[in-house]
Amino acid sequence: MTIQSEATRKTGHDPTGVRIVLDNVSKVYPGSAQPAVENVSLEIPAGEIVVLVGPSGCGKTTTMRMINRLSEPTSGRILVGDVDALSIKPTTLRRSIGYSIQQAGLFPHMTIRQNIGLVPGLLRWDRKRIAARVDELLDLVGLEPAQYAERYPRQLSGGQQQRVGVARALAADPPVLLMDEPFGAVDPITRSTLQDELLRLQDELHKTIVFVTHDFGEAVKLGDRIAVLGERSKILQYDTPQTILASPADDTVAGFVGSGASLRQLGLMRVKDVELRPHPVVHVHDTAAQARTTLAGSEFDWAVVLDDRDRPVSWVRKSRLAQAAELSDAVEALDVVSTQSTLEDALEAILAQQHASAVVTGGGNRYVGVVTLDTLIDTITGIRADADAKTRDGDG
Ligand code: ADP
Ligand code: MG
Repeated sequence: MTIQSEATRKTGHDPTGVRIVLDNVSKVYPGSAQPAVENVSLEIPAGEIVVLVGPSGCGKTTTMRMINRLSEPTSGRILVGDVDALSIKPTTLRRSIGYSIQQAGLFPHMTIRQNIGLVPGLLRWDRKRIAARVDELLDLVGLEPAQYAERYPRQLSGGQQQRVGVARALAADPPVLLMDEPFGAVDPITRSTLQDELLRLQDELHKTIVFVTHDFGEAVKLGDRIAVLGERSKILQYDTPQTILASPADDTVAGFVGSGASLRQLGLMRVKDVELRPHPVVHVHDTAAQARTTLAGSEFDWAVVLDDRDRPVSWVRKSRLAQAAELSDAVEALDVVSTQSTLEDALEAILAQQHASAVVTGGGNRYVGVVTLDTLIDTITGIRADADAKTRDGDG
């Protein structure tokens, strides 16, 4: 029985992830005195993204490649969906495990369509089904099939090649995806977009994803859980990003987490988790005089401008209103965040604007209040105080 049909039987539908267990796994490369990976035990829950993070050379790739047996363990046991991975043929195993690596690993002499259709072809799907699947996957990763399917990898940007790499890994709808620094070779903005897309995909697909990176920020953003690895893949801490950020297990982890830890925690909290403040509002059809009156009776020197359905469309400051004939002459462009946005997004919105708060929208994109810089500073201070208290508890 293949792992995929095992998953189907258990869950009633195909694509959902399965649990992976590493039990006391070691790897000694032929000719080396030291093991590259030593006695690693790790349980990766079904349907989660688990990130292996650690410095270069610590054994992340080796650990990952033992799961699909691109590297054979020297000792230990590996279960993929309750199947002993060492008991079945490596080629059979690999068909149930998508694999995506840095620089996409696409075959340069094959078109995008041929690259993505490779594994379904090996599985002897018929041509029509493969063609339909390739189109579906290109859509899924945000590439127009008509435009890209017949191109060669070199005719795509680095970010587009990475998307194709992810599509190829997903081709046969495997329950498990292994991703080894897949976004390591693209620029930071593209990387951030690819990370967002992976999270969106995972929301739909619920695969079990093992993701390797040396970038702790990436681990925090993507991981449901993070395994912080030291030399020979020794697990220094295995927990949720929240817990690792708030209470690193030891000095090595703390060093790796870095001084940006409390700022990073803002990326884990949502705007809806903090108190919103009221702020003066005016409506687009108000006269400049009405807007001046609103601000005159307020302690603030700017107001949010709402449309007829109470959606924020711009902002206006007192100093510009003073000389304006019409409200519309004085308004300025506005970046809004939603109650679902992270506090990190809110901080960015605040820093991008000249008023010390971010305007927040709720249901129907309607205005619900502002989150202020003071609130964010209080939140960071609170996180630091909690972390310090935990450190003291740990020492005593
Ligand atoms: P990481 O992915 O964390 O950078 P690797 O798993 O690639 O680490 O490597 C872990 C250790 O194993 C390193 O010391 C590396 O030099 C060694 N290593 C990796 N691949 C091989 C190999 N094929 N043969 C011998 N040693 C290897
Ligand atoms: Mg590596």
